[in-house]
Amino acid sequence: MDFAFNADQQMLRKTLADFASRELTPHYMAHDTDHDLPREIVRKLGALGLCAPMAESQYGGQELDYVSLGIAHEEIARGDFNAAYVLLLSALVGAIISSHANERQKQVMLPPICRGEHVAALAVTEPGGGSDAAHVKLAARREGDSYVLQGEKTSISFASWADTALVMARTGSYEAGARGVSAFYVDLHSPGVTRHRFKDLGSRAIGRGQIFFDAVRVPAEARIGEEGSGFVEVMQGFDFSRALIGLMCLGAAQQSLDETCQYVADRNAFGGVLARFEGVSFPLAEAAVKLRAARLLCYEALWLKDEGKQHGWVAAGAKWWAPELAAQVLHQCLLLHGHLGFSLDLPHQQRMRDVIGLEIGDGTAQIMKLLVAREVIGQVARGY
Ligand SMILES: Cc1cc2nc3c(=O)[nH]c(=O)nc-3n(C[C@H](O)[C@H](O)[C@H](O)COP(=O)(O)OP(=O)(O)OC[C@H]3O[C@@H](n4cnc5c(N)ncnc54)[C@H](O)[C@@H]3O)c2cc1C
Repeated sequence: MDFAFNADQQMLRKTLADFASRELTPHYMAHDTDHDLPREIVRKLGALGLCAPMAESQYGGQELDYVSLGIAHEEIARGDFNAAYVLLLSALVGAIISSHANERQKQVMLPPICRGEHVAALAVTEPGGGSDAAHVKLAARREGDSYVLQGEKTSISFASWADTALVMARTGSYEAGARGVSAFYVDLHSPGVTRHRFKDLGSRAIGRGQIFFDAVRVPAEARIGEEGSGFVEVMQGFDFSRALIGLMCLGAAQQSLDETCQYVADRNAFGGVLARFEGVSFPLAEAAVKLRAARLLCYEALWLKDEGKQHGWVAAGAKWWAPELAAQVLHQCLLLHGHLGFSLDLPHQQRMRDVIGLEIGDGTAQIMKLLVAREVIGQVARGY
């Protein structure tokens, strides 16, 4: 068993840690507003080769392995949690296009994502429900060489500023469930598309919101994969993204943990530094151990993915546990800063609000536990 990153991965980690502390950390708090994340950040992430980096090189990708992708999410999120959303969505949309689009579609769709020119959203959730993603209602009606999209997506990251979106739409009957859903790569500057930005608790720079499709005509060529295969394609994509989300949240929590260790080592009270009190040091020790354990779970899921092995329940477990743990650790870090922690001048509160969003986004803890339970109980029941 080898727990070490290889030489390339160590180099990537160092490069991105330097980039994040230099270019992202100093501006993270300034982005806690209802303004979009600056395009400049997206372009820089593209220039670093971090947007859809697993795509093949002829389409602008780096053919990066999934463990390295995890490193990128962790390090970028340490500097700016919301900048890591750019990586996450480009990885998800990029992976679905890479795996399921035809040659011509890949040539057109992937390079602008990889270069950080197109911000791509993934539009699954609807007002009627998010967890029950197989029953989307947004309709795609075939008309000759086009489809006409009619309906609403809600709670979509980047809704307010994305250029494109991979949209799950119903081409079959409602009763057909998942089998009646197709995926379309849609230009969000098309006539008939309108958007509404939510006022959110955290991650305000990602501009989560609604996207309305009113008779939006897209060419048949915008359909990715076969009619009725969209849901399966997206769900396959979600597997690895769950571990990436885990690492984003753990990266943010680790950053606050490091800052808090420094703070309690510096601050004096009762004739010495705060760190000498077990009431202060034990919560930090517990946080360090739990973050490390959760991190291993995330990287194991990505390593399994790289090895072409089953990683479904490990990734689902990472998606349940890591965001929840990160929110708890961030809360603890906030408290250990005393009154200063409650001020908006320190980043722990912002990181905590940001992380809570991904306790919900991409599937809640309950849904993740359903997936874990189904697999682990099923394995035992089948006997092995
Ligand atoms: C920050 C953020 C970013 C997001 N980004 C995107 C995005 O980019 N694209 C996108 O398509 N969506 C996105 N979402 C939406 C997200 O995926 C959904 O909110 C999520 O899947 C839950 O769906 P819902 O909100 O409709 O809740 P519901 O499905 O209505 O669930 C409500 C509650 O009931 C629980 N519940 C539901 N079903 C069950 C069950 N069977 N057993 C036990 N408990 C259950 C849930 O866990 C939850 O606590 C984002 C959400 C957030 C908060």
